[in-house]
Amino acid sequence: MKQSFIIGKILSNALLVSTVATVIHVHASDNHYHDFLNRDIDGIHDILKKTGNVVLKPFDSLLASSKKEQSVKIGYYLQDPSVLKEIGILTTTVKRSKFGGPVLEDKDLCSIYSPSTDADGNFVYSKDQNKKFDYSSVFATVRLTMNMCRDDLTFLLSKDPKNKLLSNTITHWDSRSYGKLYLTAEAGMDANAFYNRNDQTRELKFFTFPDDNGTLIHSCRSSEIVAHEAGHSILDILHPEYFSTDSLETGAFHEAYGDLTAMFWTLYQPKLCSLLVSKTSGDLHQREGNFLAAVAEQFGSALGMPNGLRNDDDNVTLQQVEPEVHAVSSVFTGAMYDIFASAYAESIQNIPDQEGKANQLYYVGQHFRQMTLQSIISLENPAPNFSDLAFSLLSVSKEWSESSTASPLDKLNWSQYINDEFNKRSILVNNNAGLSLTLKGDKRVCHTLPNNLSNLI
Ligand SMILES: [Zn+2]
Repeated sequence: MKQSFIIGKILSNALLVSTVATVIHVHASDNHYHDFLNRDIDGIHDILKKTGNVVLKPFDSLLASSKKEQSVKIGYYLQDPSVLKEIGILTTTVKRSKFGGPVLEDKDLCSIYSPSTDADGNFVYSKDQNKKFDYSSVFATVRLTMNMCRDDLTFLLSKDPKNKLLSNTITHWDSRSYGKLYLTAEAGMDANAFYNRNDQTRELKFFTFPDDNGTLIHSCRSSEIVAHEAGHSILDILHPEYFSTDSLETGAFHEAYGDLTAMFWTLYQPKLCSLLVSKTSGDLHQREGNFLAAVAEQFGSALGMPNGLRNDDDNVTLQQVEPEVHAVSSVFTGAMYDIFASAYAESIQNIPDQEGKANQLYYVGQHFRQMTLQSIISLENPAPNFSDLAFSLLSVSKEWSESSTASPLDKLNWSQYINDEFNKRSILVNNNAGLSLTLKGDKRVCHTLPNNLSNLI
């Protein structure tokens, strides 16, 4: 057993060296690399094309244009406001109002307030134009998060065109039968944000609260919080049955998927990959400056939590947490974070320079995000526990690594990391073998419970 493991590792490393060499070669001979790190996500498909990497058709281009739609630029927060003040710009298509100008609405999303546009007919404001900026930023962040997932579905189907579960998922996604998602950036005073769905509507709401100094904290200004809530809405499209489950672990997975979506949001932005590597030297277990692991820093800080409202780099086990969805979610998220950190560390062993590490962070992040999505879609159990989810991830990692078309990223030691990290947290990586915790307390996702800070967002 031990020998085959060692051989596997050496093989994997050998393959990895060839990837690294390719990556360095491409970028050493190609000035697009600097562009890549400095461009907004909006231009990333062009850059990937020029560097010879896989190009996905941008989701926006799949939307049929019509006279009812209008292309605009929309400003959004790149990360949490306490991490980075810089804004990103999304170019996307929105509807026209009946008076002709653009409004913050498209086929999937509808902002309940649509500001008047700037002098150029766009939704790009300075951050002191609070209400205008906040509503635009939420719209753009949710739009990009949905694009990220929809593009991944296209990629996964191209990898496995006969996969019925995947094609059914895409058909369901594109049918939009589940209705639009309504966005409220400023829903009132509360230290919270949530996704909700009932018979009439699906909605995301973000709230505002004062910190100890009386400074108002707006949950809508953290792209991690917005991505977390968008993650709930996406999982509810992929698996609507998870939303109304009585299973604590399935409910907790809803929360974990929100935090993983926030993590994937950061890894989806080349600028943020570059900034993270510059702050951590690529050590994803470093606490200082690690805005990938820390979730909702500004929000957490206002509540006296210096490492974020939650921190993904968490080693708690199932036996150590309160039976509440957010608390239990930390067990799953912690395992996923460590799996990613290990795969990333393995992938940069032979990359000395910061730019190469940032580039690799983007690609390993994309790979793990797609692997995670495939594992979720592969599940047919209406209320999977953590063991089911872990087993599905393990199955996908094995299938991809054994495929005749396996890439060096597929050949990283994912299976070993998945087994190690879930077992470490008392989650057996088997079908139906997990601890089945009985639900106690409030199972609603993203709902505030009094006097318990871990129940927020
Ligand atoms: Zn949540």
